[in-house]
Amino acid sequence: MSSLLITNGRLVTLDEDNRFIDGGSVYIDGNRIVAVGEIAPGTYAADCSIDAGGRLVMPGLINAHHHLYSTFARGFTPPGPPARDFDENLKNLWWKLDRALESEDVYYSALLALMEAARAGCTTIIDHHASPSCWDGSLDQVERAFRDVGLSGCLCYEVSDRNAAGEGIEENERYIRKCRESDDEQMAALFGMHASMTLGAKTLERCAAAGQDTGFHVHAAEDQIDVRITADRDRRGIMDRYLEYGIAGPSTIFVHGTHLEPREMDLLNSTDSMLVSNPESNMNNGLRVSPILEFLKHGVTVGVGTDGMSSHLISQARSMYLHQRTDHRDPTLAFAEACEILLHNNRDICNRLFTEPRGALVPGHLADVVIHDYVPFTPLAANTFYGHLLFGLSFSRVQTTIARGVVVVDGGHLPHLDENRTRAHCSERAAAIWTRID
Ligand SMILES: [Zn+2]
Repeated sequence: MSSLLITNGRLVTLDEDNRFIDGGSVYIDGNRIVAVGEIAPGTYAADCSIDAGGRLVMPGLINAHHHLYSTFARGFTPPGPPARDFDENLKNLWWKLDRALESEDVYYSALLALMEAARAGCTTIIDHHASPSCWDGSLDQVERAFRDVGLSGCLCYEVSDRNAAGEGIEENERYIRKCRESDDEQMAALFGMHASMTLGAKTLERCAAAGQDTGFHVHAAEDQIDVRITADRDRRGIMDRYLEYGIAGPSTIFVHGTHLEPREMDLLNSTDSMLVSNPESNMNNGLRVSPILEFLKHGVTVGVGTDGMSSHLISQARSMYLHQRTDHRDPTLAFAEACEILLHNNRDICNRLFTEPRGALVPGHLADVVIHDYVPFTPLAANTFYGHLLFGLSFSRVQTTIARGVVVVDGGHLPHLDENRTRAHCSERAAAIWTRID
């Protein structure tokens, strides 16, 4: 591990005092931030230094829900008539695509998506994985990609009964055990499940027992079909069912929650569970978007993810506030909330799942630092930053991404990886995957 000094940056610290520092420096030793602010020349003898040239420097972004395995779906249209609803979309596209993945595909789909994430300034990703034809050891393939790119990840396998009863339970158990027995803090684990509608009573009971000490990562009420199947089969609401099995809790992420009722939002709050919204994904599927303002009113910790749509987080925050405004026909809504969800709530979610603190330029935090190729041309301060974030940074390139103290993106490229060769290899793999889907 070496030391690194960033100088001449416009620092957005996101620390407790929300400090903005012009001409600031960040000193990193190993994978931790050691000092932040005005550092006199010669204070530290760093192995390497980077002049930020007045560009904006901030903590790496965090993605609270992703499906890295979806990478090879880009541009793919499944055979047959177009999906008319969410159920057909799952059955015609996603459940065929994930079945078509081989073990190497799992690695390369994660590798490509993580390379994109690093280039978009994202350094930690909470992923939800499925590859039913090669589930055994699949999370090791995803982990291998995280280590090759250099980012941090929280992984789980999506248990469901859709191919075989309880498929994926053992993979979650194995990976949770592996993370627990490892001294390494780069990777973390949750117990993954698909959704109430694909989890029968016996499977949910087994999952509840196996993941109780870890926490869960599960979709909830993404579409009415999840609510309807649960009501018909189990004679109760989704949250009542999850509560009965002990799934809710402070280490559990519920994804979407779009069709949860106010009473169920209160249950999320009273169990201190987390809710992750994915507005672009909801809109892409022609579904209602999670009512984030309602969840916030009910005191729920709301985060934001990409749900496999992309690896670009800032665009999600833009979609989040834009949707709220047009949905409510109110131009005053959700601007600050969307930014706070991205920057503060995703950090809070992460800090529940990982042992290393992150998400602020603060001594002791994990050295996940991004230099955006963006020099503000209007005043930059606490009361203007969100405008820079959503109107400036969302359209600018990342100059440098430092993840866990290591430069993983330099001038927009990943110096430690052969990007061209990887892309060429992935093109071949994608073409082969597409031919396996009928
Ligand atoms: Zn999802």
